[in-house]
Amino acid sequence: MLQSRTRCQRYDTAEHAVRPGDDPQDAILQLNAHHHPKRRRKPPTRSNRNPSPDFHSPLRFLLSSPPSLFLVASAGRSTTIGTRILMDGSGPSNGGADGSGSAGGDGGGMLRPMDAEQLRECGHRMVDFIADYYKSIETFPVLSQPGYLKELLPETAPNKADTLEDLFDDIREKIVPGVTHWQSPNYFAYYPSNSSTAGFLGEMLSAAFNIVGFSWITSPAATELEVIVLDWFAKMLKLPSQFLSTELGGGVIQGTASEAVLVVLLAARDRTLRKHGKTSLDKLVVYASDQTHSALQKACQIAGIFPENFRVVKTDCNKNYAVAPEAVSEAISSDLSSGLIPFFVCATVGTTSSSAVDPLPELGQIAKAHDMWFHIDAAYAGSSCICPEYRHHLDGVEEADSFNMNAHKWFLTNFDCSLLWVKVSQANSVVDFKDWQIPLGRRFRSLKLWMVLRLYGVENLQSYIRKHIELAHKFEELVIADSRFEVVTPRNFSLVCFRLLPPSSDKDNGYKLNYDLMDAANSSGKIFISHTVLSGKFVLRYVVGAPLTEGQHVIAAWKLLQDEATKLLGSL
Ligand code: PLP
Repeated sequence: MLQSRTRCQRYDTAEHAVRPGDDPQDAILQLNAHHHPKRRRKPPTRSNRNPSPDFHSPLRFLLSSPPSLFLVASAGRSTTIGTRILMDGSGPSNGGADGSGSAGGDGGGMLRPMDAEQLRECGHRMVDFIADYYKSIETFPVLSQPGYLKELLPETAPNKADTLEDLFDDIREKIVPGVTHWQSPNYFAYYPSNSSTAGFLGEMLSAAFNIVGFSWITSPAATELEVIVLDWFAKMLKLPSQFLSTELGGGVIQGTASEAVLVVLLAARDRTLRKHGKTSLDKLVVYASDQTHSALQKACQIAGIFPENFRVVKTDCNKNYAVAPEAVSEAISSDLSSGLIPFFVCATVGTTSSSAVDPLPELGQIAKAHDMWFHIDAAYAGSSCICPEYRHHLDGVEEADSFNMNAHKWFLTNFDCSLLWVKVSQANSVVDFKDWQIPLGRRFRSLKLWMVLRLYGVENLQSYIRKHIELAHKFEELVIADSRFEVVTPRNFSLVCFRLLPPSSDKDNGYKLNYDLMDAANSSGKIFISHTVLSGKFVLRYVVGAPLTEGQHVIAAWKLLQDEATKLLGSL
């Protein structure tokens, strides 16, 4: 059914850290370009009920129309919608029970968008389809072939309803070949975004309720479960009690780490402007390292931080790409003497390139000394800190104003589910999460996280994390045992950064050699790995985190890389 990926358009598998000196405007354009298939394939180069009157809480930076008005308005609308387009309940159920397989009506003029028996029939078939997909996932090339779909699909939407069978055929023949299989046991690229039965069921239930829980009253269970589950999680991570809802703080689920950092940056900006005056925006300075995720740079642009006030502190191999606190202090002193206002410092636990861990205690002290907002991005590595033996990576979190990690990366909670905690939120007894995020509407995301925690339990989740770290350790040992390779940075979690050593005569220090090795491995369809560039070296990134990965997958991946390396070195 599926063809192997054809070899060898050039592509970029690096997820970008901030780019020193970049205009954030360019950063946005680059990010957009990065996600565009054609641009990606370029060769590597070096080069509550009532609106709260409390405007003082840092996260209360967004206001919407009073919820009560909104509810009246929408209640009026839905009556009209109900008579105009919803099914009237008459007529036979047609959900495949009659054999047509049509889920949307067969042209009788009456759309029946939700019929319980139809859903049961179609839903069972979809679950069967998905279970079969997971059973056969290893047979698909892990990395997809983009840029093919336009020719396969019609230019306009169908006038008449298609059947579910037609749709399944198209999914099999036209969609699946263009899917990169993030849940494949042979997926080792970027950072994982793993799914699970529990996470999946939670997504289903969330889709079923399909609430828009912007305020407490729009679905109290959604807000209250989110508060409870985020408190549970904070306790699992042993976050300081100020991050709990029982104190002044609390947690909230954002879509992504990018949204999380934007939200806290805006809160920090407004806190600082209240202190220094609204006209001080051009003086506000943000500090991060050159390993910080580019999401911060994007957030700065959105928040109106002047591009020249975004300090990117250089890191190097001597500190394994963690930022040096002295360098951050120096940059702050220099800015203060120029009359600028340092206001935000971002540390990372598990950087995107090499999973480096910034020194939290020192950075926290610096931020405190200068009354700056201290944010910690632990998007990937945060999950590991539920294990006592990895919790030390969060030492220093006591000083943070905000802390973020993605449960949708390495915590078996289907995308999207990014957990953000703040120390100071709001004094109201009822939380309206619309004031803690960019959009108004929000999904019932806490269900899936709750189900993951309930159906697996903390002990199993800890074992699951440990297993991945052990598998990565095994891979690391295999790399070390082959003298043709080197491990480039010490492994902290389940990411191994390594490369094929180039011959001494190699002109670009193994840049092309390692690109070619990655491409050969990925083009085989058998595995998918990604890369980064550290100190000018093209470095291969191998991350264990997919839900089905076992020891045999690690061994097979290494054998493939060794074989491809032998071929490449033989052809030099
Ligand atoms: N921060 C770190 C350390 C990351 O590794 C990533 C993505 O991999 C992000 C932030 C951005 O994550 P998101 O896609 O949730 O915005």
